[in-house]
Amino acid sequence: MIDKMSQLFVRTLRQDPADAVVPSHRWLVRGGYIRRVAPGIYAWLPLGLRVLAKIEQVVREEMVAIGAQEVSFPALLPREPYEATQRWSDYGPSMFRLHDRTGADYLLGPTHEEMFTLLVKDLYSSYKDLPLILFQVQTKYRDEARPRAGILRGREFIMKDSYSFDLSDEGLAAAYEQHRQAYIKIFDRLGFDYVIVSAMSGAMGGSRSEEFLALSEYGEDTFVRSPGGYAANVEAVQVAPPAPVDPAVMAALPAPRTVLTPGATTIDSLVTAVNQVVAQPERPWTGADTLKNVVLRLTHPDGTTEPLVIGLPGDREVDLKRLEAAVHPADVQPFDEADFARYPALVKGYIGPAELTETGPVAFLGADGSTQLRYLVDPRVVDGTSWITGANVADQHVIGLVAGRDFTADGVIDVAEVREGDPAPDGSGPLELARGVEVGHIFQLGRRYAEALGLQVLNQNGKLETVTMGSYGLGISRAVAMVAERNCDERGLMWPRHLAPYDVIVVSAGKTDEIMTTAERLAAELDGLGLDTVWDDRPVSPGVKFADAELLGFPTIVIVGRGLADGVVEVRDRLAGTKQSVPLADAVAVISQLARVEA
Ligand code: ATP
Ligand code: MG
Repeated sequence: MIDKMSQLFVRTLRQDPADAVVPSHRWLVRGGYIRRVAPGIYAWLPLGLRVLAKIEQVVREEMVAIGAQEVSFPALLPREPYEATQRWSDYGPSMFRLHDRTGADYLLGPTHEEMFTLLVKDLYSSYKDLPLILFQVQTKYRDEARPRAGILRGREFIMKDSYSFDLSDEGLAAAYEQHRQAYIKIFDRLGFDYVIVSAMSGAMGGSRSEEFLALSEYGEDTFVRSPGGYAANVEAVQVAPPAPVDPAVMAALPAPRTVLTPGATTIDSLVTAVNQVVAQPERPWTGADTLKNVVLRLTHPDGTTEPLVIGLPGDREVDLKRLEAAVHPADVQPFDEADFARYPALVKGYIGPAELTETGPVAFLGADGSTQLRYLVDPRVVDGTSWITGANVADQHVIGLVAGRDFTADGVIDVAEVREGDPAPDGSGPLELARGVEVGHIFQLGRRYAEALGLQVLNQNGKLETVTMGSYGLGISRAVAMVAERNCDERGLMWPRHLAPYDVIVVSAGKTDEIMTTAERLAAELDGLGLDTVWDDRPVSPGVKFADAELLGFPTIVIVGRGLADGVVEVRDRLAGTKQSVPLADAVAVISQLARVEA
């Protein structure tokens, strides 16, 4: 029996959903592919499920091709394993937590490293069992702060996650590379225009991690790339620090001095004031000569809070995403009035790291036990660099404060905004900024999870050795949105043939018996040839049917209507935007040719 539009569970909408901000969301809802249940939570309707299944199939094939085996975990998971790795608390408000009737804690899995580690620990005990790659295609739950764009960022979403288990670092590197190649094949098959960017700064341990970002103006991820091939997520960019200044040169630099800068609480007003008070003959002072000190409040997973002061060149802002990544799992908030009230040593607008000799007032950094706050600086603030910064007294700044001589930070934090034109850290040229959507993430976890959960196997010498792991995520429901995003126009969706829910829609444009029986016969014949075909048999106007056919985006639209009097049907290619009149007798051959050529 062929599928009929009159029976198919689909209702197209003429209006955009009120919350639609991106085309994929608009068309998937209007085309009856998905339906909103709650913020970030969507139901899949028959057409949506068909696309989802095809994308899952692509992913499965490439995973199986690297020897991965499929399993399936529940989404409802016990607390204890996540407690052992600290993620029960580290995951913060993004984790859905719940209790059973006895009061025991459970969670809805945001990702499954713990469960896979325990599964392998449960069943495997020898190096002979390794290497191993397991995967699942499964529903994940994350209480995202900003669910958006339909299934692009959901609170319930479908992910393929795989995990590799090896004894040696080389084994892990090989599994990682296999995944990298598999992802390249998958995203090529899905037709994405993507970049592979490095995703982690060395600060997190130096193991490899890369993200696959599908280029999109709607992307929430900003990445940089250089002409010489450097590519990184903005969070992962590591600024190459300038060489430190020779200690002798540093010692000889002029001593710092205080200048009056009434009302200069912004970098611009400070630069103007300083240029008036102490003009520099060679070149005027700029924001880059100033050291801006930003005070923030960190909240750790255990609920404790701590102020953090970040010193960075005044011509740059702190990048919120880089900051969040750098302080994770702590949460970060701006210092508010109440916070400032608790730290009177912090004079808003005039904060600086050093204790000043002449004028007396001490800074938050005072080595003499004055208000001690954690102070981290931008990598550009290397020893020997000289700065204009706050004097910790209202209406006063200090000029010539030298890092390493007049103040010492507690460490480095690389969270300043990255700008178009900044040099690539590896010297491969100026950086260009672009946006993308993260569709996949591959990550060398190393032994962290295996250690926390005690996954060890006997090695060749009969000794217990901790296993090293990789974790590899791929957003399947997000990929559906991204395929839609790349394949739509102002009239609706235009699925690539191999991912389309149906290959062909046969539209009967007219109610005569001849039109109806011819359309049905043609649809049945195409279906019999293995082309997924739907017949639009509804008693509605041809105009409505044409609009729906274009909105739904099946690659081939066949119109059986008035032309039948001359023995022809019209064959439209939704993707190419072409149409042709085809003698009825040749229709099946022409359509199946069309479908197969590009399949
Ligand atoms: P993002 O930075 O977009 O929040 P993430 O870094 O939290 O993603 P991972 O934990 O690496 O994501 O998850 C693996 C993959 O799952 C991602 O590459 C992405 O494709 C997909 N994914 C993550 N969060 C969501 C979501 N809320 N909705 C849909 N897909 C998601
Ligand atoms: Mg990620």
